[in-house]
Amino acid sequence: MTLAHAVSPDLESVAGAQARLLDTVGVLAPETVGLELALGRILAESVSSRWDLPGFDNSAMDGYAVRALDVALATVSVPVRLPVVGESRAGSVPGALAVGTAMRIMTGAPIPEGADTVVREEDTTREGDDVLIEVATPRGTSLRPRGADIRTGDTVLHPGRDLTSIDIGVAAALGHDRLLVGRRPRVALFATGDELVPAGARPGPAQLTDSNSPMLSGAVREAGGEPAFLGVARDSKESVRALLEAASACDVVVTSAGVSVGDHDWVREVVAEMGTISTWRVAMRPGKPVLTGRVRDAVFVGLPGNPVSSSVTFELFARPVIRRMQGAREVHRHRIHVRLGEEMTKPGGLETYTRATLRAVEGALPEAFSAGDQGSSMLHSLTRADCLLVLAAALEVIPAGTVVEAIPLR
Ligand code: AMP
Ligand code: MG
Repeated sequence: MTLAHAVSPDLESVAGAQARLLDTVGVLAPETVGLELALGRILAESVSSRWDLPGFDNSAMDGYAVRALDVALATVSVPVRLPVVGESRAGSVPGALAVGTAMRIMTGAPIPEGADTVVREEDTTREGDDVLIEVATPRGTSLRPRGADIRTGDTVLHPGRDLTSIDIGVAAALGHDRLLVGRRPRVALFATGDELVPAGARPGPAQLTDSNSPMLSGAVREAGGEPAFLGVARDSKESVRALLEAASACDVVVTSAGVSVGDHDWVREVVAEMGTISTWRVAMRPGKPVLTGRVRDAVFVGLPGNPVSSSVTFELFARPVIRRMQGAREVHRHRIHVRLGEEMTKPGGLETYTRATLRAVEGALPEAFSAGDQGSSMLHSLTRADCLLVLAAALEVIPAGTVVEAIPLR
């Protein structure tokens, strides 16, 4: 089967639309932040070590620092008796170790000059000022040499990385208290629709809660952007235009609803007048109408109104834009492989994102089952879903047991 037959001829493939959109998106100028603000940001520089780690030879055990030669003949039945002269503890530099003596040492404390091995506490018996060494420890035992982990100048973290709390700790250990990171894009959000009331207000007859705006606000933050919610446009050209005008001052504009071919869907017309449209109809379900383009200097992504379509198209189109602007190396979410636990059917010609639950299987890929009604306004199955199955456009009936890609949702 050729790709031309896989996707309906009047629609653009998801991958094609994503690639064309991302081609137009540049990386914003990075900024420097303190480590306390670096979590979740995208690293925009190479991070190298200012020094060796560990910075000095130190002990991996609580025990006694000795010379390996002095204890070479030690056994449990014939231990070697050494006088204990002093202690090496964290934070202070010990004196040198004389031949034929031992020094008490704590984990992480510096190895005294002259010592070349550490005997574990468990392999010794203390007798007053002496220690009986019961095991011969070869040179280097329980000793962490300077630079064994990382050497001065080693590059440990690379640009484009999502900074985790572990990375932040590593950067601190390498000698850094601030990092260059991608700037967070400002993302203007507005909803459209005369039927919408804000969250918490009881909808009147024929009204509906604007659930997309709070969802998208969270999704923008999760993607690393700074959301700016501008409100709800009425289903009039003037109202859509006014909000789009204000929104275009941001780096990205994300709208929900009004992108279809209904009599009151104004978003496409207004975007076409104020900017350019690059994609409108994508071969996917849910979310066939998804509008991408530019309004002034802002990247525009117009999502469909149904909440499931909105969340799936945000994931596939808006999130990668927001991550690209921060300089992320991977703009798409990491996908997993799963095995269908039941047969799935779908319309041919549309890449389908099916809400599914996963069941762990020992020693094999997880098994996926439909999370319930797949209608694009159905919220319950969305809350139950562990992942979205990515079912190829060409397929219609997919047998149980087939391995497919999935986008994890949690
Ligand atoms: P539309 O694209 O304007 O035809 O909207 C498609 C469907 O999504 C309609 O049922 C709308 O009521 C619903 N919808 C539109 N906007 C929102 C929103 N902000 N939150 C929840 N549902 C919405
Ligand atoms: Mg509408």
